[in-house]
Amino acid sequence: MKICSKCVLPETFPGISFDKEGQCSYCSHYQGTRNLQVLKTRFKDKFNRILMEHKPRRPYDALMAYSGGKDSTYTLRLLIENYQLKVLAITFNHGFISPTAIENINKVTKHLHVDHEYVSPQTDTIKEVFVKSLFPNFYPLSALKRASAVCISCMNLIKSYLIKKAIEAKAPLVVYGPEITFYIDNRLYQVKIAVK
Ligand SMILES: [Zn+2]
Repeated sequence: MKICSKCVLPETFPGISFDKEGQCSYCSHYQGTRNLQVLKTRFKDKFNRILMEHKPRRPYDALMAYSGGKDSTYTLRLLIENYQLKVLAITFNHGFISPTAIENINKVTKHLHVDHEYVSPQTDTIKEVFVKSLFPNFYPLSALKRASAVCISCMNLIKSYLIKKAIEAKAPLVVYGPEITFYIDNRLYQVKIAVK
């Protein structure tokens, strides 16, 4: 499989193309680090402020949608090791997770001593949602530039499940990869985490 020479995104990534040097379109369009630095500082300050105001909540500070990929693995480790949060990691098993991914998920959660659960919705439900997502114009074209229709539906299922579970468990944070939703005093806040 072809991968970007700089960031290792694969050729299967939605909307990707490669230049002659093997660098992907996402790397070519990257605007540089100055703006990113400003954003990082802003997000980090906001994150710290919210944590100060809303810690601790037990049994869990945060519920995390954990796919076992690089983004969620990085974020999971950060929440646990840098912020000492008590996290429940949840993997949404739609039936298409590879054995290698499951092995990675189990390895990481064991290593980080994090509580972890798999959630498996009924096959019929998943099938119905995925098939309906593929109907023409089900999602706007702009949404489909980022991910496929099936992926968007899958992410929405995960997000709604986690928010429901967070409300039940009274956990104030819901984390998806680098995105965090705060559910505080019956209101939802969303920020991106960029805390390297
Ligand atoms: Zn790249």
